[in-house]
Amino acid sequence: MELGLEKRRALVTGASRGLGRAIASVLAAEGADVIAVARNIERLNDVAAAAPAGRGSILARACDLADAAAIEGLAGLLRGVDILVLNTGGPPPGPAADTSDAVWIKQFESMFLSAVRLTRLALPGMRERGFGRILAIVSSGVVQPIPNLGISNALRSALVGWAKTLAGEVAGDGVTVNCIAPGRIATDRVAELDQGRAVREGIDIGQVQKESRAAIPAGRYGDAAEFASVAAFLASPCASYVTGGVIRVDGGMIRSI
Ligand code: NAD
Repeated sequence: MELGLEKRRALVTGASRGLGRAIASVLAAEGADVIAVARNIERLNDVAAAAPAGRGSILARACDLADAAAIEGLAGLLRGVDILVLNTGGPPPGPAADTSDAVWIKQFESMFLSAVRLTRLALPGMRERGFGRILAIVSSGVVQPIPNLGISNALRSALVGWAKTLAGEVAGDGVTVNCIAPGRIATDRVAELDQGRAVREGIDIGQVQKESRAAIPAGRYGDAAEFASVAAFLASPCASYVTGGVIRVDGGMIRSI
């Protein structure tokens, strides 16, 4: 299938590593002109330099998603964007009961409000042009909350509620809004979480990974490229009648239907 992403303009946040990086790379390989956003410009330049040879391009742009003024600084770029991928850093692990107000507020700003702010700046152009794709990267925890990830479970569920509401508001303008829920995709963050659990429980990281794999019907962690190809489809004109959904990319890990 030809995705039809040539010359589409995309902005992907959290693009210096992991899922965001993989999405930026596949969109560029499919012909899109991608603005890759994260805090560290050197790492983003590496992403741009390592972009697979394809028809599109990657431009690095530094921005801290926790900083409203820095997001406002992207306004000019966002006006021309057809595809907006809302991907943030994950919050620190921890129980729902013992998280301070300061941590809640900080994470709300970078994980939730950043998405609202970026979208507000991108939507007018999308509506004018009659085409837009907004993708929010959430987590399997929005369907099946993950123990010890209280902030993630709560704030990503809020994002799903916001995205679903928005999808209804903009569907008539040719703009789709979807969430993608990763299960366990092998990235640095997942390796850090596995390491954290190994230390917390005093067990070997190999044991942690073995238990994780056993909970996934596919029997393995996903690959970032497998995740990114779903995002590329949803970002494309081919997915014009898919909106308001939470699409799982989890090897069957979430047990509910
Ligand atoms: P990651 O930590 O490897 O990458 C996060 C990216 O966001 C990095 O590029 C980082 O530099 C950037 N970032 C962090 N804070 C930022 C800020 N304030 N401003 C700008 N950029 C910032 O994570 P990942 O594994 O690629 O996952 C992406 C998101 O999906 C995370 O929120 C993660 O918690 C979530 N998630 C991932 C999985 C998985 O299986 N990998 C599962 C569930 C949820």
